[in-house]
Amino acid sequence: MAYLVQKYGGSSVATPSKIRGVAKRVQKSLCTCDGIVVVVSAMGDTTDELISLAHRLNDDPPSREMDMLLSTGETITAPLLAMSLAAIGVDAVSLTGLQAGIRTSASHRKARIVDIIPERILEELARGRIVVVAGFQGANEQLDITTLGRGGSDTTAVALATALRAEHCEIYTDVRGVFSADPRIVPEAVPIPEISYAEMLEFAAVGAKVMHPRAVEIGEAYDMPIWVRSSFDDSGGTIICRHPKLEDRQKVRGIAHETDVAKITMLRVPDRPGIAAAIFGPLAEHHINVDVILQNVGHDGTTDLSFTISASDLRAAEKLVGDIAHSIGADGYEATSDIAKVSVVGTGMLNTPGIAATMFRTLADAGINITLISTSEIRITCIIDRERVRDAVQALHRAYELDQL
Ligand code: ASP
Ligand code: MG
Repeated sequence: MAYLVQKYGGSSVATPSKIRGVAKRVQKSLCTCDGIVVVVSAMGDTTDELISLAHRLNDDPPSREMDMLLSTGETITAPLLAMSLAAIGVDAVSLTGLQAGIRTSASHRKARIVDIIPERILEELARGRIVVVAGFQGANEQLDITTLGRGGSDTTAVALATALRAEHCEIYTDVRGVFSADPRIVPEAVPIPEISYAEMLEFAAVGAKVMHPRAVEIGEAYDMPIWVRSSFDDSGGTIICRHPKLEDRQKVRGIAHETDVAKITMLRVPDRPGIAAAIFGPLAEHHINVDVILQNVGHDGTTDLSFTISASDLRAAEKLVGDIAHSIGADGYEATSDIAKVSVVGTGMLNTPGIAATMFRTLADAGINITLISTSEIRITCIIDRERVRDAVQALHRAYELDQL
């Protein structure tokens, strides 16, 4: 049986008229397959509103109760869509994550899907019904309701597509796909027709926010193509798959940027074994994620050591690094958040010399100073001044001819 899984994000179901639009799109897709499972998010900003409601009653709400609360957002959308489908004569049934057989790990607010028992869904599909599943939620061994972390409906959708052996998974959102750069900065940016799982994960890690990374990981593990499209038009969108066709021609897939970055430099750190562990151990214990690290070579037995973290972690990090500097005999530290990250991503760079050179030349020609560089096999990231980030993204998009896809 060729089943189709479609997921509609919060902005696509924000109002009754948008839900009606989704119902029509689902109805139209019916003729292309043997059955459809639709995964929905909470309407509009419902999840944010529920979180702030909770915080008005408790600064640190018990996470089990948070999951009971947050799951209601999706639990509202699912029956509304099912009703809207019924209103146009399409037989549909809504299911919670628990009813849909989504079993998760125990941990609340960041649960992982451990198993899907799809019997109920398959039964309903066999009866010719559209199945509307509340995204983002599941149940743990105790049958307590869990949620999968912010943006988790993408994960529900790709996991269900895998369990049902769907041909692919369609993710409907308010943008026309994964863009070659942020279109608010680069007006000529275009949706990337095809991108590999690995590229998408790198992209997400350095600032592109379209897809939930865990959903992409599941797609990669089970080879499930993910088609990201707009729910508001019929344009082609982006297909995330194993082997994008454009691979040979397009060496760089896109430019990502991130402004939630801060840099800490530990000054005149003694150059001896154990120092890096002494610095990064306490940060890790406090769940502060360290990104780019640069250790300069010292000449007088000391060295400066810089690293980046997300700007939202800066306050927490500053509470720690003063003490760390003192305990290892460094000369203190400097912190700044006037920086940004700009990255080029593409598997093509694996065997194409000159991609990095083009990046550095382009930034140099634009008079943009690079403070730190980090690379993976398919990504080059430069840390630059925050106020130059627009110029950098625009210049790089032009340099790699990404407007000519
Ligand atoms: N409603 C949840 C959130 O806003 C899950 C989702 O939209 O995917 O994070
Ligand atoms: Mg949402």
